Amino acid sequence: MLEGSRIGQLFDAASRIVARKRMIIAKSQSDLEKMRAVGELIAEVREALRRMIEPGITTLELNNAAEKMMRDAGAIPTFIGYKPRGMVPFPFAICASVNEQIVHGFSTDKPLREGDILSIDMAATYQGFVGDTATTVPVGKIRDDLAQLIRVTEECLELAIEQCYPNNRVGDIGWAVQQHAEKYGYGIVRDYTGHGIGRSMHEAPQIPNYGRKGTREKIRVGYCFAIEPMLNLGTAETKTLDDGWTVVTSDGKASAHCEHTLAVTPAGPEILTLSKNQKAALNAAKAENASALLESAAKKG
Ligand code: MG
Repeated sequence: MLEGSRIGQLFDAASRIVARKRMIIAKSQSDLEKMRAVGELIAEVREALRRMIEPGITTLELNNAAEKMMRDAGAIPTFIGYKPRGMVPFPFAICASVNEQIVHGFSTDKPLREGDILSIDMAATYQGFVGDTATTVPVGKIRDDLAQLIRVTEECLELAIEQCYPNNRVGDIGWAVQQHAEKYGYGIVRDYTGHGIGRSMHEAPQIPNYGRKGTREKIRVGYCFAIEPMLNLGTAETKTLDDGWTVVTSDGKASAHCEHTLAVTPAGPEILTLSKNQKAALNAAKAENASALLESAAKKG
């Protein structure tokens, strides 16, 4: 709608001005150690939930399991009671968004059904720092177009993370998401963005999932970002349900969402929200790569 997009443009312009005025906080080495700890903690919760998802389970069961895992680990579920100005406090430990729900879905006692897709988003606070992550999971067997939507959303996240080198720009991140998502004709959600993260869940800068290369803030060592593409099978337009939180696609078509928290190091992006197993697999792949390089160097003499 014209009215909606006009308001969107005004909001974009206003938030750019606000974002410019807010400082981006570079993390110290000791801050980064805590970001690593909370990142791994929330990644373990995410992977445990992924393993639980099957037809018949309810999002309330997933929510309760997530809250218990976080509290047992000594962490606080960051989402519970989260209250942006003018909104009611968010009541759950996770956002559970089914099918056409994009983000901020409420957990319910309605069982998930074969063929659904479920986006779960969660954050924990531990030792004063926040880790934030999301994933979209198929419930049993799903349609091919939904599987592709999830795959491309994950690819967009990977491409976006690859932009997070010192001296690149925040606009490069959105550009990477946009150019890949548009190849598939997906609607890119513009009303919600990624963000800086640290002692607060939402720090500067805002990280939109669209943009132009070489624009916006310069990326520097020590910055921590939560990058979170949200792609829709149909329109990018969103609306919010009467509960004040749940965001859905305005055409009722499905949406996918994935998110990692990362740190910018001198050598490039370090994904903080990987589980122990995922880190071990990544390190094994790196070691294999390194030994292959050494071997070919040795052959060349
Ligand atoms: Mg986030």
